[in-house]
Amino acid sequence: MTAKLKRKKRFLIVSPMFDFGPFLPLNISVISAILEKAGYEIKLFDATFYKMPVRDGWKEASFAIGIFKPVNWMGYGMDKLKKDYIGDFKRLVRSFEPDFIGISIFTTLNEKLALSFIDAIDDDYEGQVIVGGIHCDINLERVKHYKKISAIIAGECENMLEDALDFLAADSNRADLCNVPNLIYRDDAGTWKGPSNMVLSDIEHIPFLNWDYFDERNFYRPFEGKVLRMGHVEMARGCPFRCTYCINERFNKQFSGFWRVKSVARMLKEIRYLNCKYKLEAIKFWDDDFLAMDMEKLKAVTAGVRKMGLKFLCHSRPEHMSLEKVKVLADNGCIQVGVGVESGNPEYRRNVLNRRMTDERIIEAFRNCRKYNIISSAYCMIGMPDETRKDILATARLLREANPHVIVHAIYAPYEGNRLYQYAKSRGYLNGAINYENTAECYLEMPSIPRQEVEKLFRTFIFYSRLEDSYYPLIAQAEQDENIFRRLKVALEDKLSK
Ligand code: SF4
Repeated sequence: MTAKLKRKKRFLIVSPMFDFGPFLPLNISVISAILEKAGYEIKLFDATFYKMPVRDGWKEASFAIGIFKPVNWMGYGMDKLKKDYIGDFKRLVRSFEPDFIGISIFTTLNEKLALSFIDAIDDDYEGQVIVGGIHCDINLERVKHYKKISAIIAGECENMLEDALDFLAADSNRADLCNVPNLIYRDDAGTWKGPSNMVLSDIEHIPFLNWDYFDERNFYRPFEGKVLRMGHVEMARGCPFRCTYCINERFNKQFSGFWRVKSVARMLKEIRYLNCKYKLEAIKFWDDDFLAMDMEKLKAVTAGVRKMGLKFLCHSRPEHMSLEKVKVLADNGCIQVGVGVESGNPEYRRNVLNRRMTDERIIEAFRNCRKYNIISSAYCMIGMPDETRKDILATARLLREANPHVIVHAIYAPYEGNRLYQYAKSRGYLNGAINYENTAECYLEMPSIPRQEVEKLFRTFIFYSRLEDSYYPLIAQAEQDENIFRRLKVALEDKLSK
């Protein structure tokens, strides 16, 4: 028997993340837990701490217009970003000799980087390359054309990964395993087969998250100009709503019961385990809508987190942010809630985005956060299909009235796989190539507003959404004039510091 046959099976997980800032992605955390349980020797190649010039440019722009507060990372090693990610990846593949290389592609944004890793794999590599992630579900036919891959995991992997790897590792495709759900593979003749059926994971019984393979820096997240040691967990997966620009709309159509919530006992057991092992200051619930769960569950899980001495952060929808629920958050140590606003035109929200909350509801959600001293972040998009300048300014005015602590705005990026993308496409608005890495660029050519105007509004949006209407003529000039832009930035900083 050769040394290779005697040793444990090896799996190299590749996370093609840009430098978004450090965090602990749930997909990698759960995949490594499953593989470890199945007896694999694992290594993680994480692109997070490599210097990516494109994102840096985007980040600089974001700081310049006030989307993010600068953070003092001194002492956390964030200044030691490396550059040669392809060279380091190739060296790791050669030294580790993995049986499998698994690349998780979360969105189209990560596709280019993921493909650069796939291209870098030597032609004489003897193992198998597997890809998975939401991007692969949505763009399956395109993904099938990637060179060098032998399998695609479509959908969730927790209940099938081990069987899928056994199947792929068998000398010849085993008939007894060829109906592994969610697996798309090349048969012995090289023809794509599967999936035999699609299943959702039973999230109550998946292994606890595993952060052993992440760089220590992944634990640190910026918060209000400071740095917190933070873990990322999920209480629920999916979302009960169907906004037209969101992948949940598609999954809610495809699967009944797509929105799943863990039991309180299981969630608290996992958080206790993670906190003991990794010594955290805070956790972030990565749920799409943390407050969608019922009041009893919300009280029980948040009280449990408080008893462990942890702060927490979450996301929610305005409709779920009643005074009672926000008070539960505040009483139990919530420090931040992120809330999608998206558009300030109620008709557009309802008819185009399928978001049926009123302006009053949105304003009330942020007022409730102010009342209980929870930092609120509002997310919105501008330059969505058929939006006008008036619509975009309505969004700015609504945000000004709602007065969240933080406003995060982006130009609408037409990601495939949802109704809003189809809407834009059917109207002929998607004509050129899209660089998903640059969220400061408008990619829609539409009659309602020129793309250059959307980009100028992106740059000045923070002024429109924070300063009174009397400033609007000056802000309109700042769209063209850098000196006026700088004067307004000073005026805004002055206002926000009071
Ligand atoms: S509420 Fe948020 S997560 Fe849910 S469907 Fe809408 S955009 Fe998606």
